[in-house]
Amino acid sequence: MEWIRRTYDVPARHGMRIEYDGKPATISGAGGGYLRFRIDGEKRRTVGHPCYRIVYPAVPEPVRPRGWCKHCMQDRAMTADGVMGRHHWSGRNYSAYGSKRWSEPCPGSGKPPWKPVRNLTHPGEQRTEASR
Ligand SMILES: [Zn+2]
Repeated sequence: MEWIRRTYDVPARHGMRIEYDGKPATISGAGGGYLRFRIDGEKRRTVGHPCYRIVYPAVPEPVRPRGWCKHCMQDRAMTADGVMGRHHWSGRNYSAYGSKRWSEPCPGSGKPPWKPVRNLTHPGEQRTEASR
């Protein structure tokens, strides 16, 4: 889902209410670059491209602008100077003895973002009034 948000500049989240082809629907998951959602009143799930005939709800602008960190590729707050704010990144090291979590300041802090976080409501192709 994060990959979809980052790639298509949309606010997609699990459980989000969207409109698909003019019908209300709820996002139920993501996989392989596609969104899975259930149209209200339908039993089967629909799989669709995140930019095809989907309208996302408007997301309020965050108090601080956000960007995708070039280093950890996560959605993080930015400073007034337009660079990535201080943040940590974490992961897990695996060895023959087990695994250990680590967390350290992200090298992307203080650097320009890979791109700003955007929340497009009408990405890509939409059905036009004429084709309804
Ligand atoms: Zn980072």
